[in-house]
Amino acid sequence: MANLGYLQVVRHCNHFCGFCSNPSTPYVHTFETMKVLVDDFVERGYYGVILTGGEPTLHEELPVIARYARDQGLHVRMITNGHKLADPRFAKELAEAGLQHVHVSIYSVREDVEEKLRGIPKTLGRAFQALHNANENGIDININCVITKMNADHLDENIEYFIENHPYIRHFVWNNLDPSMGRAETNMNSYMHRLAECETSLHRALRLLHNSGRTFRVEKMPLCYLTEFAWASTETRKIVKGEERIVHFLDSKQTVRQTQWGHMYADGCRICSLRTICGGMFDRGDGYDPAELYPVFVDRDRIVSQIIHDGTDPSYAGRSIDDWRVEFEARLESAQQMGPPEGDYDNGGDQTPEIGFVNESSMRLFSKKRKAESRMAARKGVTMETTEVALGEKRSQEAW
Ligand code: SF4
Repeated sequence: MANLGYLQVVRHCNHFCGFCSNPSTPYVHTFETMKVLVDDFVERGYYGVILTGGEPTLHEELPVIARYARDQGLHVRMITNGHKLADPRFAKELAEAGLQHVHVSIYSVREDVEEKLRGIPKTLGRAFQALHNANENGIDININCVITKMNADHLDENIEYFIENHPYIRHFVWNNLDPSMGRAETNMNSYMHRLAECETSLHRALRLLHNSGRTFRVEKMPLCYLTEFAWASTETRKIVKGEERIVHFLDSKQTVRQTQWGHMYADGCRICSLRTICGGMFDRGDGYDPAELYPVFVDRDRIVSQIIHDGTDPSYAGRSIDDWRVEFEARLESAQQMGPPEGDYDNGGDQTPEIGFVNESSMRLFSKKRKAESRMAARKGVTMETTEVALGEKRSQEAW
């Protein structure tokens, strides 16, 4: 299976998105602690590692850990806002260190919308420069885009722009806003959209990409909003192929191994033909409206067949739909016996390393950063997240 592991190398950032799901914490990594986690991915037979954050380019040893991961045989990726990658020397350094694939997050090609979403002015030009630099250095590029209230109506406009101006970008990923963590949770009113608000523009965007021969994935979107492109749902692909995902968080959650992909469902989901392969609605119940979900009655196995016979993704190659059904039924049965995961996170019953740490200096830096962010939040009308200080202790904004 083509499992990719996520490693949060830092949790601070040089942008200030009001819906950030992984904002600052006092936890830090050194090269030595990151190395342990990379080794863990290698031992588990993972295909690659995604270096993420916060903004991973802010870790001074990023090139060193990228080189180490590559030397261990992992496919090395990074999720970034592109701010530092806009420096051609830095892009070259990362490429030489072994970075093979970069996910640059751009939410809107409208400068004013991007500025509102980023909390920082003039980020778009640097992100476009980052795309250029990555391409010049032979790094594969994805565009990552979080769907929010502010860009939900023009996802297709973004794609038109990229096809025309950055034709070398061949893969796009959308993340439907997950209101269960960080500032996304405390600022739901400003950023949460109704699913219907993005339905048309998302469908147009996917069609544009499909017609141009490009590929895409959509995360955290119920299948009833993906219609003909249900095969592109990240969760559905993982459910169908039985894949897992490990995220090494730099907070008190530490290592999370996710093996179950279902989330919230509405009553109508019970009669939906896609229920067994749909991740449902990513929410705890007060962000999206379950009344927006509607059962569909389409051929589930046709979607499965598109996934397991996808020539661009050989991770489940060579099996017939009949074989898949047998294997899937067995997996469903075993998942039913295990029951739902306890709490918000599923560790798959696994013993996984807890490595990110807090010390006096990281606490001092965090305290300083938190105060600066709180001032910025007050200026922008953003509500700060409740944060985990250390060892699960929680403090509200007022406590800082
Ligand atoms: S109705 Fe429920 S199970 Fe069916 S596609 Fe929508 S969210 Fe998924």
